Amino acid sequence: MAGFREARGDLRLESVTKSFGDFTAVDDIDLQVPRGSFFALLGPSGCGKTTTLRMVAGLEQPTAGRVLIGDTDLTGSRPYERPVNTVFQSYALFPHLTIRDNVAFGPKRRKDKDATTRAAEALELVQMTQFAGRKPAQLSGGQQQRVALARALVNHPEVLLLDEPLGALDLKLRREMQVELKRIQTEVGLTFIHVTHDQEEAMTMADTVAVMNRGHIEQLGPPEQLYDLPRTRFVANFLGQANTGVGTVEDTDGDHLVADVLGTKVKILASRSQVQGGDVLFGVRPEKVTVSRKQPEGVGNDVKGVVRDVSFLGVATSYLVDMPSGTTWSCYEQNLDVDPIDLRPGDEVWLTWNPGHAFGVPVEDA
Ligand code: ATP
Repeated sequence: MAGFREARGDLRLESVTKSFGDFTAVDDIDLQVPRGSFFALLGPSGCGKTTTLRMVAGLEQPTAGRVLIGDTDLTGSRPYERPVNTVFQSYALFPHLTIRDNVAFGPKRRKDKDATTRAAEALELVQMTQFAGRKPAQLSGGQQQRVALARALVNHPEVLLLDEPLGALDLKLRREMQVELKRIQTEVGLTFIHVTHDQEEAMTMADTVAVMNRGHIEQLGPPEQLYDLPRTRFVANFLGQANTGVGTVEDTDGDHLVADVLGTKVKILASRSQVQGGDVLFGVRPEKVTVSRKQPEGVGNDVKGVVRDVSFLGVATSYLVDMPSGTTWSCYEQNLDVDPIDLRPGDEVWLTWNPGHAFGVPVEDA
C-alpha cells in the first residue's frame, strides 16, 4: 500500500539488559524479529515484555546491549528519532478533535504537506473513513482502538509496537480485532511487535512467538512449534494445557526413551525429549490422548485412571481423569455420534497416546 515503509531490515536486540536499581527486569536477551513479520512477546505479568518494548520504542534505555534495525544502531536515540510507533491499550485520543484531526495531528505538527492525504489513507486502512468527522466520545471502544492504530500508522513507521492493544475490549470484539490487526499487518507489510499475556491471542496472530519468563526468553519460534514441542516446563504449561508427570529415564531403544512415569513405563520419541537421561517431565497435550474403557492391546503407552468429571462442550466431551500418581489429566472425545463411550464420574478408563506426540522437558527449570 502506498506510503507504508517496509523495515530496512530485521529488528535486533543484542545482549540487552535493563535493570531498575538492583532489580533486573530484562536479563541479557538476544532477539531477532524478521522484517515484515508479526511477532508476539508473550509471558505472564511482570516478565519484562513491556520493558523490552519500551526499549525498542526508546522510552527506556538499556542498561547494557544494543537495539538495531538492519545495520542502524538505535541505542541511545530518542523515541521521535526512531522509525517506530506504539499503540497502547489506552487509546489516548484528543477528545476535542475530530477523528480526522486526531489522525492528522502528528503529520501536521511536523508540517507534512501531505498530512490530510496520509490521514485519509490511514483511516481507510482501518476502515474508519465514515467516522472521520466524529469526536472520540461518539465511537465505541473498538472503533477508538482502530483510530489509535491509524494514528500510529499515519507516521509510516518501519516497526509498529502494540502493547496489549486489545486488553480493554470484550472477548467478541477482541477476536474481531485480532483478525483485523493481522489483515492490516499483511496489507502494509510492516514489522509488528505485539505484547500480550494472552497465549491464544499470540498463537492466533503471530508468525513468531517469543515466550518470556522472569526477564529471559524461554523459547522462540512459530506458534505451532512452541505448542507441539515445548523446550521447558514453563512453556509447556504456559501455552495451552499439558498433561504432565515427573519420571526417570530408565532405558533407550535408540529411537525412544522409556521412562517410569505415573508408576508405568511410557515412551517418548528421543528426538522429542530435551533430556536423554535422569529425571524428565513427561507431557502430552489433552487432544493427543485417547480414552477407552478397555486396555488397548499392544500399544504399551497406557495408564489406568478414574473419571472425576465429565463436561459436554458441544463439539467434544471433556474428561478429567484422576491418575495413579495423584495428578489429574484432561482429555477429549469428539462428539461424532458413533459409539460414544458415555463415561460417568467414577468409571475406570485407560488413557493412551502415540510416543510421537509426547514430549520430555527438564524437571528443574520452572
Ligand atoms: P505486565 O503484563 O503486567 O505489563 P510485563 O511483562 O510487561 O508485565 P514489565 O512492565 O516489563 O512487565 O515489568 C517487568 C518488571 O520490571 C516488573 O517487576 C516491574 O515491576 C519492573 N519495572 C518496570 N518498570 C519499572 C520502573 N520504572 N522501576 C522499577 N521497576 C520497574
